[in-house]
Amino acid sequence: MAAQILDGRSLAADLRTELRARTAALRERGIVPRLAIVFIGEDESSLAYVRNLARTGERLGIVVAVERLDRSAGTQEVRSCLERLGRDPHTHGVLLQQPLPAHLSIREIADAIPPHKDVDGSHPTNQGQLAFGSGTQYVPATPAAVMLLLGRSPHWPLRGRRAVMIGRSVVVGAPVAMLMLAQDATVTILHRLSGGLQPYVKLSEVVVVAAGVPGLVRGDDLMPGATVIDVGTTLVDGVLKGDVDFESAVRVAGAITPVPGGVGPVTNVALLRNVVKAAE
Ligand code: NAD
Repeated sequence: MAAQILDGRSLAADLRTELRARTAALRERGIVPRLAIVFIGEDESSLAYVRNLARTGERLGIVVAVERLDRSAGTQEVRSCLERLGRDPHTHGVLLQQPLPAHLSIREIADAIPPHKDVDGSHPTNQGQLAFGSGTQYVPATPAAVMLLLGRSPHWPLRGRRAVMIGRSVVVGAPVAMLMLAQDATVTILHRLSGGLQPYVKLSEVVVVAAGVPGLVRGDDLMPGATVIDVGTTLVDGVLKGDVDFESAVRVAGAITPVPGGVGPVTNVALLRNVVKAAE
């Protein structure tokens, strides 16, 4: 039987409809949801992401304002900028765009964003709440997108499911693993040094991949009927590739996200959803 395609574009469209209604209700109360992004340097792909976010925000009635800082900005300058935005009563969400230049460390900066405006969940308080399953106010955008897509899969709710998370980065793999655990899945985390992935993947009803290695997971690796969420995005000869070999996986999986058109489109909206929540 053909796998269910977990269509990120259609989920994102549904979320945008919900957000438009919520921003309209806020505007009636005289509140215009506003996200401030602190952007350091000139990285073109990050800039493209921010422009796209601003366009989506505009369509939803959310103001996305970008504060640019020079590539050479130091820790204190970045902190001061975040603190100033944190005090601004018209700004509901504050985001520090990553990746940061090599001389800056998110660990030394993230706590300058007040936790109640930390819409990308970078503040240690929000990260700690997420890690301990005690319910953070703001789930970071990409992990939130993964969970929203899992919510549309045949394996939802995750309670008692065997799930594997391939990748353990602070931005994707680790938080997704903790969020699946908080939903009472039995979670295995695999990474670069785990050795053979196949025995773990073969036993898993839910497979989430965020490694940045195109074609890392193939159909033969999967348990028939598994739900597969592919977070990977790598440009190969100008074409965006996921971490899952879609052609072979779609024949074995029960549900699968495409790349492009899976996690990516939901990520933006998940972030803007946090801004609306902050404004509410
Ligand atoms: P990262 O490089 O920080 O982390 C990659 C993780 O994968 C590491 O934990 C590493 O140990 C693991 N890994 C690498 N090779 C592996 C292998 N052969 N076997 C098992 N594990 C392996 O990357 P990241 O920031 O977590 O991003 C991962 C991927 O997701 C990238 O392709 C990135 O572009 C993509 N991404 C997509 C979105 C989106 O919205 N769609 C958002 C963020 C990241």
